Amino acid sequence: MIETGATTILLVEDDAETRRQVATLLEHHDYRVAEAADAESALATFVAETPDLILLDLGLPDRDGLVVVERVRAAGTTPILVLSARDREVDKVLALEAGADDYLAKPFGMAELRARISAVLRRTALIAADAGGLEVIRIGDLELDPVSHTARVAEEPVHFTRLEFEVLRVLAEHAGQLVTYGRLLRSVWGTAYGDEAHYVHVYVGQIRRKIRRADPAGRLADLIVPEPGVGYRVRAGADPAPR
Ligand code: CA
Repeated sequence: MIETGATTILLVEDDAETRRQVATLLEHHDYRVAEAADAESALATFVAETPDLILLDLGLPDRDGLVVVERVRAAGTTPILVLSARDREVDKVLALEAGADDYLAKPFGMAELRARISAVLRRTALIAADAGGLEVIRIGDLELDPVSHTARVAEEPVHFTRLEFEVLRVLAEHAGQLVTYGRLLRSVWGTAYGDEAHYVHVYVGQIRRKIRRADPAGRLADLIVPEPGVGYRVRAGADPAPR
């Protein structure tokens, strides 16, 4: 089952054979495919086509694919699924830190690619659909508005990316409770996820850095408490920071 025939995927891949294979598969499953073979044309096509999702090879002939991630992220929340032969942990972390939504190491199977695309699109749709009629969450100096996706620390706005916001929201909604990596992954990334604890570490690290910058007095320093090997816990709203 595929979401809708109108879904446009921007496929950025310099290897013509791989591009043809992936494009054929996607078109077979009723996606509209826009193709680009380098970073510059990827960015131009991104602006021209406003795709629903970007499949991005990191090893491109003109620029590093990470540049594409950064530019797209600066422009908005279009989901990015990185495809790359670089399977080192540091590359995954760099891509996720730059704002990629997920990472698939080459060589990958077509079934796995389809599953990841569906998961990313489903998550994006869920986040969009989820945004109605939710109450503002307050924990100490932190305020999260799930409707406008805005966050404030001590009344000052703090910018979180879409996924950072969702991770923080899920933790905050379960304030006081331990939230396991698996639960966070399934809530934020989708039901196909569960073993990618390193994603959670990356995002929680970014969230904590942003909160720390906005909170020089350190009143929220202990907001997110790691439970090593298991998950994270946001301290309950009324409680003082644990010592
Ligand atoms: Ca390449």
